[in-house]
Amino acid sequence: MQTQITEIKYNQLLNELLESCRTHIHSVNEDLIRRSFRTSFEAHKNDYRASGEPYFLHPYAVAKIVAEEISLDDYSVAAALLHDVVEDTEISLDFIAKEFGKTVAEIVDGVTKIGGVFKGHEINQAENYRKLLLSMVRDLRVILVKFADRLHNMRTLQYMRPEKQRRIARETLEIYAPFANRFGLGKVKWELEDLSFKYLNKEAYAELAKKVSEKRNQREKYIQKFIQPLKDKLKQEGIKFEIAGRAKHLYSIYRKMIKLNTTFENIYDLLAIRIIIEDDNPNLCYTVLGIINQMYKPIDRFKDYISIPKKNNYQSLHNTVLGPEGKVVEIQIRTRKMHEIAERGVAAHWKYKEASFTSDKEMEEWVNWIRDVFETASKDEATKEILASFKMNLYQEEIYIFTPRGDLLRLPVGSTPVDFAYNIHSNIGEHCIGAKVNGKIVPLNSLLRSGDQVEIITSKNQHPNESWLQFVKTHKAKNQIRKFINRQDDKIVEQGKQIWDKKLKKLKLIFTDDDIQKLSNKLKFNSPRDFFKAIGEGELNPDEIIAPKVEKQEEKNELKIDKFVNHARQGAGGVLVEGEHKGFDIHYAKCCNPIPGDPVIGFVTIGKGITIHRKDCKNLITLAKNSPDRLVPVDWQNLKGKEFIAAISIKGEDNPGILKDVSNSITNYKDTNIYSVNINTKEGIFHGVITVYVNDLAHLEHLISRLKKVKGVFLAERMVTGKSHDR
Ligand code: MN
Repeated sequence: MQTQITEIKYNQLLNELLESCRTHIHSVNEDLIRRSFRTSFEAHKNDYRASGEPYFLHPYAVAKIVAEEISLDDYSVAAALLHDVVEDTEISLDFIAKEFGKTVAEIVDGVTKIGGVFKGHEINQAENYRKLLLSMVRDLRVILVKFADRLHNMRTLQYMRPEKQRRIARETLEIYAPFANRFGLGKVKWELEDLSFKYLNKEAYAELAKKVSEKRNQREKYIQKFIQPLKDKLKQEGIKFEIAGRAKHLYSIYRKMIKLNTTFENIYDLLAIRIIIEDDNPNLCYTVLGIINQMYKPIDRFKDYISIPKKNNYQSLHNTVLGPEGKVVEIQIRTRKMHEIAERGVAAHWKYKEASFTSDKEMEEWVNWIRDVFETASKDEATKEILASFKMNLYQEEIYIFTPRGDLLRLPVGSTPVDFAYNIHSNIGEHCIGAKVNGKIVPLNSLLRSGDQVEIITSKNQHPNESWLQFVKTHKAKNQIRKFINRQDDKIVEQGKQIWDKKLKKLKLIFTDDDIQKLSNKLKFNSPRDFFKAIGEGELNPDEIIAPKVEKQEEKNELKIDKFVNHARQGAGGVLVEGEHKGFDIHYAKCCNPIPGDPVIGFVTIGKGITIHRKDCKNLITLAKNSPDRLVPVDWQNLKGKEFIAAISIKGEDNPGILKDVSNSITNYKDTNIYSVNINTKEGIFHGVITVYVNDLAHLEHLISRLKKVKGVFLAERMVTGKSHDR
């Protein structure tokens, strides 16, 4: 059955709400309330609730709760009236911002967004869900309006299907009620809990409710008997107070029964009253405590939450005494202000600046701070400006992301799908190729937002790369990507080493670690590792570094040496072979390249004649061992009075003037003549071959030792063929 709101009813509702605002809210923009009331009414005009009531009665009821039970500001009341229009009607957020201002629009937006978070998700990590809520909210009023919305939905839950009732009840019990408790909203918390209990465990609820109501008369009679003498005494003392029996909440009774594994009767024997002292003077609480303890025998269960408040800043004295008939009675004693705080918590006293929390503890500290400000501030300070600066930053350092299974992962703000993937498993991170966020494919570097549902697409062939390091946020992802890249690098470095070693082997070159270090320094690599990596990656061709240069130089040198050796040999007229081998063809061994002046010996080579080796040639030593009979004594012809050509290999720093020093060092000794000079420089090092005319080996050796003393020269030696340094 659907009903309509008449004009009379409309005005009646509006006036009631305005009256609530005037009573409970410090400063009210009535025009704002009237206009948002009108807009909400018009927007929801054709909508009805499950109960058949006009839908408007829901936002209206939420606005009343915000005004009366949580006592927020007028912006919150306006936002409460409009909290469902963006989602359910044609009205846009822009319109709300234009008509009612940014603050109202932001609250409405926040309430709409957090409403969507839980849809389709099973609640299995309640604590994370609460944090998810906080991480989505920049203005605490959003959460408090949401509490009011939830409270009204719970109050009218009977019209929903049982399945939906249970889902909403569970969400309320696990997320909203503990939340309300943290915010110090004691009354809201109790009601949310009892309503949830009612839908989650109908039988237990019904049974408890029945038992409580059966005992109500009996209980109330007893309480009257208990408090009457106390009332008289307090009046006598001139203390202004309110005293009442305290309804025990069904859910708390139920929980206690479960926890203590006991019966209703055992627990409900505990009768409870509360004394609220009107004067804001905590000392009076202790005075009252003294009066009670004189009247009734106290049991040793006293708790002083005035000197030591609870974590959420709850303050009260808890005392337990034996009443008439030996019944146990719990008594709470507190001031009016303490009571307000216990019932309405933070929401009772808005006063805060920006705050940001990264933990529950911080939030609690913040709540305490709010209380503190309230306690010490005068009422005039509670101005609109303070109320308007409700901005906050709850859990803004973190975001909460749904896995495809509905689990929540906590990540730092700025995280991307790659962070998410690594957070699930390094294997998923290592192969993630794409991501779906809320069903849409997005780039891997997209920023995730709280409440997103993320699905990672993997591929066996995908691997992390360096560019991922530019956008990932979590340490885990960074470390894993680096590790992977290092592992890849190790392989590349190893490959590079192998290529290099092969090349060296081919060229019969030996490089010590020190040589490699120098070489990589010269080529401007950070380390030999980078040098090998460049080779492994194909960025550096070893041929271009050593082989061609060495090879070419060797070729050149070989050519030069051949020329010079021939020249020298001609000058000397060749070797003289005596005896039976006279007239044999003469060859010069390639392995040791003898030149005139070298002590030499001949070796008979079958079908080839005689090969001339230097006496200290390693090859010759081996040959001689195997076939000593084939050795032939030989000597150079016409040695006396002749000049021979010798080659000196020289290395040094490429300093200006060094060449002059080198040539001076030669020509200043015995007027030695230089036959030719061939110098190459690279990277500040010069390498040269100088051929000179010498009289004998002693002459040459003198030149070499002189050259070694030239500043900047670090190598000077008699040149042999390029390849056989080890003559
Ligand atoms: Mn709603």
